[in-house]
Amino acid sequence: MTDDRNGPRNAPANDTRAPVAVLGLGLMGRALAGAFLREGHPTTVWNRTPGRAPELADAGARPAASPEEAVAAAALVVVCVSDHTAVRDLLDRIDAAGPGLLTGRVLVNLTSGTAARARENAARVAAAGGGYLDGAILAVPPAIGTPEAVVLYSGAHADFEHHAPALRALAPDVTAHLGEDHGLAALHDSAVLGLMWSVLNGFLHGAALLGAAGVDASAFAPLAARSTETVAGWLAGYAAQIDAGAYPADDATLETHLAAMDHLAEESAALGVSTELPDLVRTLAGRAVAAGRGGASYAALVEQFRRSAPSTGEGVGE
Ligand code: NAP
Repeated sequence: MTDDRNGPRNAPANDTRAPVAVLGLGLMGRALAGAFLREGHPTTVWNRTPGRAPELADAGARPAASPEEAVAAAALVVVCVSDHTAVRDLLDRIDAAGPGLLTGRVLVNLTSGTAARARENAARVAAAGGGYLDGAILAVPPAIGTPEAVVLYSGAHADFEHHAPALRALAPDVTAHLGEDHGLAALHDSAVLGLMWSVLNGFLHGAALLGAAGVDASAFAPLAARSTETVAGWLAGYAAQIDAGAYPADDATLETHLAAMDHLAEESAALGVSTELPDLVRTLAGRAVAAGRGGASYAALVEQFRRSAPSTGEGVGE
């Protein structure tokens, strides 16, 4: 984790900011280019559909007529397009421009994707003589360049270190390198998205349940937020149990949780609310209890997520 919030105004007079190229000027690409410009980086931009970001030109960005021209303008090339197919299209165009274009440059791909695709891109860019960092943006466009932004990177440590001073323009407080495996950033991104959807689904199910009894979601929100914070406080302790493979129930046993899950399903059915979410958690917890984990802590459920096929009959060993 790094922290460098010195803007150009605070930089020494002889400071020269590294030139950057940004390919892809959708909502996120525009925010990225804007953050580089605010930090004083000479920024060359390209977008498939021209003229989509006049405000960037007003802020000093140099528009390139092609991706090849943009790549040629900087040693740090940031790509942020819709999806992996769009990244592949771009790499095809860069390849078609001839050998050597990527030599000595680092392509930082901030397009969302999977770990396997990140490794595929890395191999392709390496074959073309370039370095590759895969990145995951855990922020919305307005947060880019503010302390709220989190951007995670994976790939060669030397490439990250070399370009970290410029990359900090995007996430001044949390610009983190996760490791040399190019897939790590995408993997963390997926894990965090899964967490986010689980929290939101729990809130939405609760809002539906209370709504059926005439309670507004706004009345539920403060209690939901407080409960989410309480649960967040349990994570470090459960993580230690998962890493140790031992699940002493210092707080509540899985059997106790399962009984409460039954209540949630029963309440939902009684109020005509979907029971799909409670049924899912009941299925997982029921399987863990059947496998002998009834006396273990909630963290023992991780064993049910680790396998793609349901299984029962494990030993107790809490
Ligand atoms: P967006 O506003 O829809 O922009 C998509 C961009 O991709 C446009 O610049 C589009 O160009 C370009 N593009 C699509 N297909 C292309 C192709 N075949 N070749 C070249 N360029 C192509 O999307 P966004 O919100 O900026 O998101 C971009 C990436 O950031 C996504 O992977 C997204 O998951 C990730 N992300 C976004 C957010 C967010 O809150 N927005 C947060 C985290 C991560 P045209 O203008 O020509 O269509």
